Amino acid sequence: MKTAIIGGGASGMMCAALLLEKGADVTVFEKTGRCGRKLSITGKGRCNLTNNCSKDEFFSSVASNPRFLYSSYSLFSSADTMEFFERRGVPLKTERGNRVFPVSDNARDVTDALFRDVRKTVRYEEVLSVKKTDGACFEIKTTLKTYLFDSAVIATGGLSYPLTGSTGDGYRFARSNGLSVTPTRGSLVPLASPSPDCARMTGLSLKNVALTIFDGNKKVYSDFGEMLFTHFGISGPMVLSASAVIGDPKGGNYTASIDLKPALDEKELDARLLRDFSQNINRDFGNSLGGLLPSKMTGVFTDRTGIPGNKKIHSVTRAERERIIGLLKNFTVPVSGFRPVSEAIVTRGGVSVSEINPKTMEARNVPGLYFIGEVLDVDAFTGGFNLQIAFSTAAACARALSGD
Ligand SMILES: Cc1cc2nc3c(=O)[nH]c(=O)nc-3n(C[C@H](O)[C@H](O)[C@H](O)COP(=O)(O)OP(=O)(O)OC[C@H]3O[C@@H](n4cnc5c(N)ncnc54)[C@H](O)[C@@H]3O)c2cc1C
Repeated sequence: MKTAIIGGGASGMMCAALLLEKGADVTVFEKTGRCGRKLSITGKGRCNLTNNCSKDEFFSSVASNPRFLYSSYSLFSSADTMEFFERRGVPLKTERGNRVFPVSDNARDVTDALFRDVRKTVRYEEVLSVKKTDGACFEIKTTLKTYLFDSAVIATGGLSYPLTGSTGDGYRFARSNGLSVTPTRGSLVPLASPSPDCARMTGLSLKNVALTIFDGNKKVYSDFGEMLFTHFGISGPMVLSASAVIGDPKGGNYTASIDLKPALDEKELDARLLRDFSQNINRDFGNSLGGLLPSKMTGVFTDRTGIPGNKKIHSVTRAERERIIGLLKNFTVPVSGFRPVSEAIVTRGGVSVSEINPKTMEARNVPGLYFIGEVLDVDAFTGGFNLQIAFSTAAACARALSGD
């Protein structure tokens, strides 16, 4: 049995490593000059490779088609992922939210551990087509030549961060073999805003704020933590998580409301303001918010209050103070859409899971053709769950192929 694995990313390398443990004949095709490019930048370069959580928590963290993963996760769970890497000399640690990282905080250690196992099987060639022949083999045409294999595993990833090699080729291979692909978009993706205020605050990171996203008057997301302004809108951990649960803001009426002082109610904030103001009564209003707000925000904030920046603090009225407090508790940013999938952490949509056997990852109507990892229509929230999906689906495929 000769197996071709198309894609030397997280899922492709894991599948190859597990097959090689069983002595299988494997060739990995990788179109960029290096395996695991995306894996090496995961978790801000630290690689949050899995989540040390219970089975139930794992499935509740999968946003699309969690049931499809029941068999593969039972076969290869987060505990198996941890055991796999620790056995290969990558000590791991568990951080807040059960997120698992290498002790070294270096994603390259995770990539290298996989790559060491599979290095000799890799051909750095771009696969152009995958076609089943009459003789039940797969004809794999690359930029260099045409090969025949008994089985083909598509591990080409999705559409996010295309510079890492994931440019959606697997969807083409699926369609050309008669499989359907559900529409794709980015998930864990920044949100676009038409407000020029975002660009004015580019790079500003807010910590310990509460974010609520409304669709009209309906609250569709709420959390407490960290977020970021960018030149095109908002991003950061809470915003990325929000993108996985809200509907498409395009054409809707979405607003992000930021509570900049969630620990204080209006009365407490007023007392705080009066205290700050009493120490600066002769200052200009525009220069008096430094104790309350980060400097990158004071210009936009002052403009939004409608209070002239050169107005002296001693003449700020009670009604104006109320406006300031209202803004501190409800600083709004209109949201006009998701940013493109190329900027997303993960792709939503992909090869339709109803056409894939969840125990083996084999296409139901094309024996010998397998799909693993992000190319499938499965995606999860942040926390190491997406890499775990890549590893679990790879393991299910490897077991099926090695006949265990
Ligand atoms: C910035 C960023 C940070 C992330 N951080 C985390 C994290 O900390 N934890 C987590 O769980 N998830 C994280 N993810 C998500 C995670 O990286 C992916 O879900 C995972 O890498 C998917 O694995 P994959 O094997 O399916 O695809 P990929 O890892 O994308 O690998 C696909 C491979 O296939 C190759 N390929 C594609 N087409 C062809 C072709 N025609 N011929 C040959 N080769 C081809 C590509 O070059 C690539 O090497 C992050 C993603 C991004 C973008």
